[in-house]
Amino acid sequence: MVQHTVDDEKCRGCGKCEDICSLELWEMAEADGGTKRAVVVEEAGEICNSCLCCSDACPEDAITITEE
Ligand code: SF4
Ligand code: SF4
Repeated sequence: MVQHTVDDEKCRGCGKCEDICSLELWEMAEADGGTKRAVVVEEAGEICNSCLCCSDACPEDAITITEE
C-alpha cells in the first residue's frame, strides 16, 4: 500500500504530477478561492508503483510517497 501526501501549503495546482503519472493517479481538485490542489484517485494506494516521477516532477517539493 502506497501513501501519497501533498503539502497543501506548497501545492499550487500546476498539474505536473497529473501530467507525468503514467497510471493517471492524480487529479486537480478545487480548493479555497478557486485555486487547485493535487489529490490522488481513490484506488491510488493499491495501484501506484512508487516510481516517484510525480514527486520528482513537483516544482514545489509538495509530494511525499511512502510505502506501508
Ligand atoms: S506538481 Fe506539485 S505543485 Fe504541481 S499540482 Fe502536483 S503537487 Fe501541486
Ligand atoms: S509514484 Fe509514480 S505511479 Fe505513483 S502516483 Fe507518482 S507518478 Fe504515479
